[in-house]
Amino acid sequence: MTETADLTSVNLAAVLDRAAAGGRITPEEALDLYRYAPLHALGSAADAVRRKRYAGTEHIATYIIERNINYTNACVTACKFCAFYAAPKSDKVWTRDLEDILRRCEETVALGGTQIMFQGGHHPDYGVEYYEKHFSAIKQAYPQLVIHSLGASEIEHMSRISGVTAEEAIRRIHAAGLDSFAGAGAELLPERPRKAIAPLKESGERWLEIMELAHNLGVESTSTMLMGTGETNAERIEHLRMIRDVQDRTGGFRAFIPYTYQPENNHLKGQTQATLFEYLRMIAIARLFLDNVAHIQGSWLTTGKEVGQLSLHYGADDLGSIMLEENVVSSAGAKHRSNRMEIIDLIRKAGRVPAQRATTYEHLLVHDDPANDPVDDKVVSHLSSTAIEGGTAHPELKIVQAS
Ligand code: SF4
Repeated sequence: MTETADLTSVNLAAVLDRAAAGGRITPEEALDLYRYAPLHALGSAADAVRRKRYAGTEHIATYIIERNINYTNACVTACKFCAFYAAPKSDKVWTRDLEDILRRCEETVALGGTQIMFQGGHHPDYGVEYYEKHFSAIKQAYPQLVIHSLGASEIEHMSRISGVTAEEAIRRIHAAGLDSFAGAGAELLPERPRKAIAPLKESGERWLEIMELAHNLGVESTSTMLMGTGETNAERIEHLRMIRDVQDRTGGFRAFIPYTYQPENNHLKGQTQATLFEYLRMIAIARLFLDNVAHIQGSWLTTGKEVGQLSLHYGADDLGSIMLEENVVSSAGAKHRSNRMEIIDLIRKAGRVPAQRATTYEHLLVHDDPANDPVDDKVVSHLSSTAIEGGTAHPELKIVQAS
């Protein structure tokens, strides 16, 4: 970001003005803005777009109460950036049985959670049948919980294990209870950085093909981006372009959620990381470039709560989940925890009115009067990870602890 722009500042300002007014910008223009536009001007343009898109509710920023439920760490895909998985024959492998999973769902409901993210490795034995069984059991016991889980990578894996097409896999797990796909597995979509960090994962094109298929079958999703494993600025913008092109056809991506690489306990280690300024610039450029994606989420879990707050002024309208449980990103070193009262306070101190949202972004509870704020201190994000002192990824994790 310190390079000298070969564009004139007049050109940059004109592109920024067009983007701020809601005009579409090209990938080349996005790259120029991402590299050269002054940080505050970029944030200001992105915030203008956010305010215009949410005119009438632009004073609100949202959060959701959710629990990640990790069903196994066994994985055949061995991504280099991942600190969560264990090789299937390793003595570090664990799996959670259905009873344990249902208990975690029950705790989620008891704490006011509305969504679960079922998340795990590519277990060599888990085909479509495994997910059908678990999703139908969860829906039968807790029909009020939204199952916002998995992604194209899991579909690719489970359809291969079961010997069915991706379309059949999506249809069957949707019928069993999956409501929407999380954007898991997107990592970096362009070929070079994807191969460098996840050589055994499906290609970025295949990831998008499966998401497009899901959207066309009525299963919407979010989309994500893992920043800071050595990708170039041009590759970051190319990732956005690939998402925008699919979104032009399907409209099925509800949100875009960039998050930063965590360098502990994995094979890549500390080789590269994204700076917080780069993260804020990405939030802003995503808001400007992804004119067809409704929501941009700031990730406080990987970047810290203050950066999460700042992201609300750089185009983000949502701070994501309180995460009653998280074991994956925290295993790689993300140590930021929060709780419901703190998230409400963070949003309010960022100058916005906090609102608890549903998976589909409707406002469930708008906290417009501090006197009526919830005071339940059990709604706490709990990270259980080998990267945290005293932490463990053990299945007996208890969720309710002081943060
Ligand atoms: S990121 Fe997912 S697919 Fe890759 S190694 Fe980790 S658990 Fe497996």
